[in-house]
Amino acid sequence: FLEGKRALVTGSTSGIGLAIARALSAEGAKVILNGFGDEAEIAKLCDELGATHSAANLLDVSEIEQMMAEAGQVDILVNNAGMQHVSPVEDFPIDKWNAIIGLNLTATFHTTRLAVPGMKEKGWGRIINTASAHSKTASPFKSAYNASKHGVDGFTKTIALELAQSGVTANCISPGYVWTPLIEGQIPDTMKARGLSRDEVINDVLLAKQPTKKFVQPDEIGALAAFLCRDEMGNVTGANWSIDGGWTAE
Ligand code: NAD
Repeated sequence: FLEGKRALVTGSTSGIGLAIARALSAEGAKVILNGFGDEAEIAKLCDELGATHSAANLLDVSEIEQMMAEAGQVDILVNNAGMQHVSPVEDFPIDKWNAIIGLNLTATFHTTRLAVPGMKEKGWGRIINTASAHSKTASPFKSAYNASKHGVDGFTKTIALELAQSGVTANCISPGYVWTPLIEGQIPDTMKARGLSRDEVINDVLLAKQPTKKFVQPDEIGALAAFLCRDEMGNVTGANWSIDGGWTAE
């Protein structure tokens, strides 16, 4: 049902973004990948999905502008690239704070402002922002991440209202813990910040939050993103979709 649609998915060389790119591609969308990684692996992915790739660093506005100009008119924009850092607030490195707000929140503003005119002109568009359970609730030592994701929620609601009569929807998807390199990477810092072993972090910190006691799978998020792109979802806008095994229901 996405034949003839162009989809740009940021941070799609890994994890959740890659699963979203695969799901949109499976429905017929022409996908533009973005993100870092091994060149040969990215070339293989492009072949497999019939996709193109932009290596734009989303912390640099001029690189975002170039990526959006090269992408041309996009029908589906998925703002997914994100990063995390775990530290008590008093020790939180300033460069990490700036990078997390810059990538998770400010880059979303830039891609959106550049994609919206084409979507409005066409009278159809889908903006999907990967937020997080941490856009609705908090846990300690993730001050920058939680602030950025709450910001993504507020930004998404705002543009949903601005675009409400234009055929363009804007929604967040808010995963709980999904087993990706981003989660693996925060385990050592969480061990340090909380004085726990690896298994204790996985079972007593991460999965403790999820009543299902299971990690969410990336392809489940891909399926939800594709669902939001259906024409029947035209009245779903400004929503923040939890996919968190019940975490935020508690
Ligand atoms: P990941 O680390 O597997 O992938 C991150 C992607 O972003 C990669 O493609 C990477 O190359 C790209 N990227 C990183 N810095 C970039 C930059 N400066 N410019 C362009 N691309 C850049 O992470 P993931 O777990 O798949 O996370 C994807 C999104 O999902 C993030 O926004 C994250 O906050 C969110 N999320 C993840 C989880 C989880 O449990 N993994 C839970 C909730 C929300």
